[in-house]
Amino acid sequence: MKPIPVSGQLWKITVKGVVQGVGFRPFIYQLARKHSLCGWVLNTSGSVIIEVEGSPQSLAVFLKDIEENHPPQAHIIAITTETTSPIGLKGFEIRSSKALAGDYQLISPDLASCPECRSDFYDPTNRRYRYPFTNCTNCGPRFTIIENIPYDRPLTTMKSFKMCPECQKEYDNPLDRRFHAQPNACPICGPSLKLTNNKGAEIAAKDVIDSASKLLREGKIIAIRGLGGFLLTCDATSSGVVDILRQRKKRPSKPFAIMLGSLDKVREYCFVSTAEEQLLTSSAAPIVLLRSKENTAISASVAPNLKYLGVMLPYTPLHHLLLADTELPLVMTSGNLSEEPIARDNGEALARLGGIADYFILHNREIYSTYDDSVTMVVKDKSVILRRARGYAPYPIRLPFKTEQILACGAEEKNAFCFTRDDNAFLSQHIGDMENEETLKHFENTASLYEHIFRLKPCAIARDSHPDYLPSKWAESKAAEQKLPLIDVQHHHAHIASCLAENGRDEAVIGLAFDGTGYGDDGHIWGGEFLIADCKDYKRRAHLEYLPLPGGEAAVRKPYRTAIGYLYQLLGAEVLTDDLPCLRYVDAIELGLIQKQVDKGLNTPLTSSCGRLFDAVAALTGICGEINYSAQAAIELEMTAFGSEAKESYRFAIGQENGIMTIKLADLFRDILTELNNDAATADIAARFHNTITAITVEVCQRLTRDNGIKVAALSGGCFQNRRLLENTITALQKCGFEVLTHNLAPPNDGCIALGQAVIASQKLKGE
Ligand code: ZN
Ligand code: ZN
Ligand code: FE
Repeated sequence: MKPIPVSGQLWKITVKGVVQGVGFRPFIYQLARKHSLCGWVLNTSGSVIIEVEGSPQSLAVFLKDIEENHPPQAHIIAITTETTSPIGLKGFEIRSSKALAGDYQLISPDLASCPECRSDFYDPTNRRYRYPFTNCTNCGPRFTIIENIPYDRPLTTMKSFKMCPECQKEYDNPLDRRFHAQPNACPICGPSLKLTNNKGAEIAAKDVIDSASKLLREGKIIAIRGLGGFLLTCDATSSGVVDILRQRKKRPSKPFAIMLGSLDKVREYCFVSTAEEQLLTSSAAPIVLLRSKENTAISASVAPNLKYLGVMLPYTPLHHLLLADTELPLVMTSGNLSEEPIARDNGEALARLGGIADYFILHNREIYSTYDDSVTMVVKDKSVILRRARGYAPYPIRLPFKTEQILACGAEEKNAFCFTRDDNAFLSQHIGDMENEETLKHFENTASLYEHIFRLKPCAIARDSHPDYLPSKWAESKAAEQKLPLIDVQHHHAHIASCLAENGRDEAVIGLAFDGTGYGDDGHIWGGEFLIADCKDYKRRAHLEYLPLPGGEAAVRKPYRTAIGYLYQLLGAEVLTDDLPCLRYVDAIELGLIQKQVDKGLNTPLTSSCGRLFDAVAALTGICGEINYSAQAAIELEMTAFGSEAKESYRFAIGQENGIMTIKLADLFRDILTELNNDAATADIAARFHNTITAITVEVCQRLTRDNGIKVAALSGGCFQNRRLLENTITALQKCGFEVLTHNLAPPNDGCIALGQAVIASQKLKGE
């Protein structure tokens, strides 16, 4: 009997995810040819659509190959197929892109230079030798140059560069690595560099990078127009120039990041684990906080008093060439003055950075969206993102449920906003501290870009319940203007909800929200909170006892005020003896004033903040009495504990008020005073203090479990950027049988607040 011929089929395949600008269509093209399938592939503003005809067997293999062997930078979220009868398609083609009204697509973050491109620009025989804008479908700028979707060259800032015949040939050839690489360019047709002085006057240079390298070796400061904005760079081995940069940037001691030419170089200066190596060399190429080796050539002014260095590898050809030419570790810090956003355009940069940089490396590829470098660390082999920006955003965080479209405006410090759509949470890149006009403008511009690119139309606006936060006020006027419901979210509930959401969880957990400041429902400043919370509601079940912050903001900047206020409140005036280290920061007049403020509650808010407790102990022990960057005292306390093996902890007590546990701290301070009297090593005091916070945590969590049976704890808040605290707490809770959820995609600090707000607002809307 003759075999029945297998009839062909037509498959309509839709692929959703990050599938544009990552070499996906050429991959499909080659795959179709390999399996002798006919049809076409097309980018829409929503997804990639493929129609292929062939035998069911080869179609099945084709589909399996898409799922398993797609290009490294593609991120597939869903593939759907529909089978119909064949219509006799011939050949295989890549059709031109189509915009679908209201549809949206996920966009790749910017990607660090790939190995192939690196060999191109290092090869003297290659036409892109030393060309600083070399890129391909596997690497290069993405979100920073996109003005609209679909992601095609005319809708990017590359539209003003007409490709030369050779570049066009690559762009049109589906078998080329640069097929439809939208930022494709070469020295003939693409963007170019120029070197100027700090007035913008061009300096003749045969090779800009070569000339700039000489200037860096002479100890000059250069502002470089990079991928997401300007960076300031100088020789990291010269304390002279690093100190000048600190003075001019008005940044006395906040650590600078450095860029090193290769992993081998990184190992010269730092200890690098496998997980840290993976993070450094990932396509996001973030700054990674690495344990620094002692007595290296890196100037102590780069990261004063710290045991860690923020290190990144070059992520654009320009960086690679500069690092190779100078053969120096280079400081790389955002091109801004103290707390302003990073500068983006040439003219703006010359105006704002002219007083900081001696020279400028400018270029003419416009930046559409501003991005800082991302900052990460590895704790217990898991990466923690401290600043989420380049390389990560705008890739969404997947939620464990579908949501309405919501705009959440975030916190005031370390602001990021968040839009939700379907089960995507588009948490924006780090915007900054919302305390000036520039940052608010940056917030507004970036938010409207997201709104436009992802075709968003929020039906509600969420904000922090603190009425005076700048983003909260902005949210209020925006909601009024657009007649949208405004949803207030308590700060620490948002912390825990964001941790839950990014872990794909939705059930009630014990939430530990330890941070510096957050507006409490009772009008006090919260920050050492144990909540029973899910993504919709929460109950405050325990907190550090309320203590006075004499002078409010002044106490935050001057932790000795907090230390004195706490001691005075808890143990009375008799413990404020002259030999106390924290008293060396005050004179008799200020000391009297602080006591009066506490007595009368004058400009002295009450706080349960864990961050302030760290401040108080740092000042009490004389480690840090005044700060000039956020969390400095707590960070220096953590650094002081370094190397101490002290296992003991101090005493504390737990009281009950209206069914809420209050952690009493008088004994803790009494014990530290005794230690100071006995001349105990500050390293051991710092270590025992860290142990005490963990001991408190374990005790409270166990009591809460006894009440309600919950065995899952979620950790959030800026205090968990402290490695010692984070590691100890995870280990101790796991030892008691708790499952511990931590942040991995959003920062533990206030950079996660918008995500939590969006999630809570979405669940509340569903409940209505
Ligand atoms: Zn490449
Ligand atoms: Zn060209
Ligand atoms: Fe917070």
